[in-house]
Amino acid sequence: MNINYDKEFEKIKETINKENPPRLLLQACCAPCATACLLRLLDSFDITLYYANDNITDPAEWDKRLGELQKLVQIINNGEYEIRSLRPLNLIVQRHNPYRFFTAVRGLEQEKEGGARCTRCFALRLGDAKAYAEQNGYDFFGTTLTVSPYKNSQLLNEIGSSLQTPTLQWLMSDFKKRGGYNESIRLSTKYGLYRQHYCGCAFSKLQITEGQLH
Ligand code: SF4
Repeated sequence: MNINYDKEFEKIKETINKENPPRLLLQACCAPCATACLLRLLDSFDITLYYANDNITDPAEWDKRLGELQKLVQIINNGEYEIRSLRPLNLIVQRHNPYRFFTAVRGLEQEKEGGARCTRCFALRLGDAKAYAEQNGYDFFGTTLTVSPYKNSQLLNEIGSSLQTPTLQWLMSDFKKRGGYNESIRLSTKYGLYRQHYCGCAFSKLQITEGQLH
């Protein structure tokens, strides 16, 4: 069944009491994707970004994307972003272990981006976010990944929904809707954030399409 996840997201937002915002753990792949998602979230949730990305197999690239995310958090917490955050924005970093990714996608190395390798990759990262959120008493967990036109939002939401529990709700979203991806490009340019040319794993780097930006 085709669900409009953007509408579901808006329905969830309508139920929120901003005096007592729910705690959201937001799995964040990179700063550019986070920009546009946060524009729709900062006024409603108490947010922790969760940098859990073992799929970024090159340690230097993993470091670089983390540095940009830290820069974005600082911009927001300094009150220099387009909207004010209800609460200070937090950032938690999961220790980098690309071997977990290589193990998860073993046998699928030759898949094209968007194929079965990516399904495993999504499950790994959303599973990590769910585990951390559950252990630390969050109300919601979600992801910035749905802002990318290269990512299947239906699949991401199906995986996330399958992981939720009675006390931890999956935040349905389709952030690419309503111009979300273009917003991420505009905001990344405005705040001088590095935008990568490939998704993250060594295999996606080998398959870069000319002129492609993630
Ligand atoms: S292309 Fe991106 S989503 Fe797919 S496996 Fe590689 S890092 Fe993960």
